[in-house]
Amino acid sequence: DLLVVGSANADLVVGVERRPAAGETVLGSDLAVHPGGKGGNQAVAAARLGARTALLARVGDDAHGRLLLESQRAAGVETAGVLVGGAPTGVALITVDPSGDNSIVVSPGANARLTPKDIRAAGALFGAARVVSVQLEIPLETVAEVAGAMSPGSRLVLNPSPPAPLPGHVLGACDPLVVNEHEARYMLGESAGSTPQEWARALLALGPRSVVVTLGAAGALVADGRSGDVVPVPSPKVDAVDTTGAGDAFTAALAWRLGLGEDLTEAAAFAVRVGAAAVTRRGAQESFPTADAVPAAAEV
Ligand code: ADP
Repeated sequence: DLLVVGSANADLVVGVERRPAAGETVLGSDLAVHPGGKGGNQAVAAARLGARTALLARVGDDAHGRLLLESQRAAGVETAGVLVGGAPTGVALITVDPSGDNSIVVSPGANARLTPKDIRAAGALFGAARVVSVQLEIPLETVAEVAGAMSPGSRLVLNPSPPAPLPGHVLGACDPLVVNEHEARYMLGESAGSTPQEWARALLALGPRSVVVTLGAAGALVADGRSGDVVPVPSPKVDAVDTTGAGDAFTAALAWRLGLGEDLTEAAAFAVRVGAAAVTRRGAQESFPTADAVPAAAEV
């Protein structure tokens, strides 16, 4: 089984002609409310592909929390691990201008109250998980507790988003660390190097057991610390309309296939196809494919 530990947010989206200046009010379009948050996104992406998936997260005892629980259940996610209360559900307040640019304020709310104690209390979920996938929209000490709660033989997939410095013992538990270009540059700082191959090797040197660098339309690079090889995995060519959630779809697919026993390159070859499918449709969770909607492998 796959266990996703992470954030669940309600994305509140309003279209505006222009952003208000300080002290000003502007009128916008009707409100659209979408389920989001990287943890919620990954859980839905995996379940929609057919993965047995549980979500460990925290939402508020409010209408947004109920909406998020409902969307998880509708996708087939096991939600017994979703804790309720302690703060309002996390929200992202998003304005979109006519050029499509976003301005976003995130209120982490209940996500910031997912504690190490909550992780310790969820031992049964960890016991049942072959793969645990985590991101950084929850407190870092909670992520560190996840790294320490892994049962023997299970695998930790970590996407450092939003990027933040990670303690060595957390990095050392990642198998793989999954980063996009922006996260790779953040983690490497000045020592980034100029090619994705160089990033992958430099990231491996930080201590994870393996690394996956996602490269948008170019697919991904897989670097395994055991062999030291860096293997390119091309993505199918598709007409991209909205890349929101592509990384979450990729990581969820990767984590699921690793849990089925595939090696990292095989799992990434499936994950790029799922990421490619996700960019052909608008939205985040709305864009995630079922297994039969995943395009064929890229021709190499
Ligand atoms: P993020 O969404 O985190 O920025 P990427 O942009 O690297 O991550 O996208 C993740 C994956 O989604 C890629 O590895 C690729 O498989 C797929 N993908 C993203 N953009 C495109 C695109 N324009 N065409 C085809 N596949 C894409």
